[in-house]
Amino acid sequence: MVNIRDMRNLFFSVGGGNEIGASCYFVQLNGTKFLLDAGIRLHTDSIYPRFHSLYVENLLDGLWELDGILLSHGHIDHIGSLPFVVEEAQDVPIYATLPTREIVGLQLNQSLTSPTFKHAELVDFPRVKEFNALRVQRAIENITPIEWYSPITCETCQITFFPAGHILGASMVYIESDAGNILFTGDFTPFDQLTVPQYQLPDDLDVDLLITESTYGYQESPYVADIDEEREHFAQKIDRCLDRGGIVLIPAFAIGRSQEVALILRNLIRNGRLKPFTICIDGLAQVACDIYQDNGVQLFGHELGKAPQDFIDALDAFNGVIIASSGMLLDNSMSARYAEELLPDPRNAIFFSGYLDEESPGRKLERLRESKGQRFRINERDVPVHADVDTYRLSAHTGSEGILSLIERVTPKKVIFVHGYPQYKTAVNIHRETCRRFQNRIEVYQANNGMPIYF
Ligand SMILES: [Zn+2]
Ligand SMILES: [Zn+2]
Repeated sequence: MVNIRDMRNLFFSVGGGNEIGASCYFVQLNGTKFLLDAGIRLHTDSIYPRFHSLYVENLLDGLWELDGILLSHGHIDHIGSLPFVVEEAQDVPIYATLPTREIVGLQLNQSLTSPTFKHAELVDFPRVKEFNALRVQRAIENITPIEWYSPITCETCQITFFPAGHILGASMVYIESDAGNILFTGDFTPFDQLTVPQYQLPDDLDVDLLITESTYGYQESPYVADIDEEREHFAQKIDRCLDRGGIVLIPAFAIGRSQEVALILRNLIRNGRLKPFTICIDGLAQVACDIYQDNGVQLFGHELGKAPQDFIDALDAFNGVIIASSGMLLDNSMSARYAEELLPDPRNAIFFSGYLDEESPGRKLERLRESKGQRFRINERDVPVHADVDTYRLSAHTGSEGILSLIERVTPKKVIFVHGYPQYKTAVNIHRETCRRFQNRIEVYQANNGMPIYF
């Protein structure tokens, strides 16, 4: 007997609705049940999406009832709970692009084997023991790679992935059915980066429900400064540091940001704006660079390479730039180990390249930048800060305008905002702005974890 609860079209945020982290959305369309992404939170004790809420709401009896798991991209806040999910959903197919599967493999394997990852990039990860090798292996093996623009059938629905920009392999997920069509954006970028081009969608896409990220939907994008001007400042400061015989450390996220910063620097050298120097990549970013390179993004060359083994012990003879993860200088990560060595010498510089959590060591160091000689606690040691510390906004994330132009373009009947902070009381408010611009034409919803939205 067909249960009536199985037939209504439903969106339910298990995690990542009114927050950034633990992205995980349950969607029921034309009787077919999907999970969109399966991430974790990084800087908190409760890392997993609240899968239990699915059972409490009587939407599922268990994750084995799912028909498919669709992954937008490989960042840990979108895929980190896969080993947990696969435990309960062993026979449920997982779909992702091939590069995403490779990045998932890198991230999950790293979480098993590297003490750096456990202690630094997954701080306060209380259930780390659950990530045993078998479950990670199974999660990766269960992923069926799919190609962009090539539809596949899953029960009563047809699924197509389209390029989303953002990072290598990142996709928007389009689900078609007799009961309506959904477009899920994942994380997306509406402009070309050096590593990946902007998102691409067919012109005539028929979308009933748009589920879109809203990272900068409720807060000012920190990247509004003139990009060329910002790159020029960055180039000048690097020039100055290298001229005085110093080393520049750029802490950067391993997947996406490190590769983008590396190419910005390489271009500054190749177009003659900077004198030639060596760029060394270290930490998890090295393996991520291999994946980028294998997928056709040319990174390595005579200016740019991997840091040799034990490079940290041979810094006296180096006069160049090091890009190392983590981006927020988390204790015992590769970037933190370099920072510990480089901070006491006034010839050196540490330039942050993007977002820093309020509580992160990187943010604490940034606050000390004007008070030279102060001591900074890093890797359980106190070191004096004599190096130059600064932050550059080298990315060009658009804010809510990028989201609004996507809405304009696909003109859905309904839109649900996820992956943002609606509780922020700033001048930017994507919900209000969408209602204002598309009055009476589009129904606008804000996702809240644990609250079903029927459509
Ligand atoms: Zn992402
Ligand atoms: Zn994300």
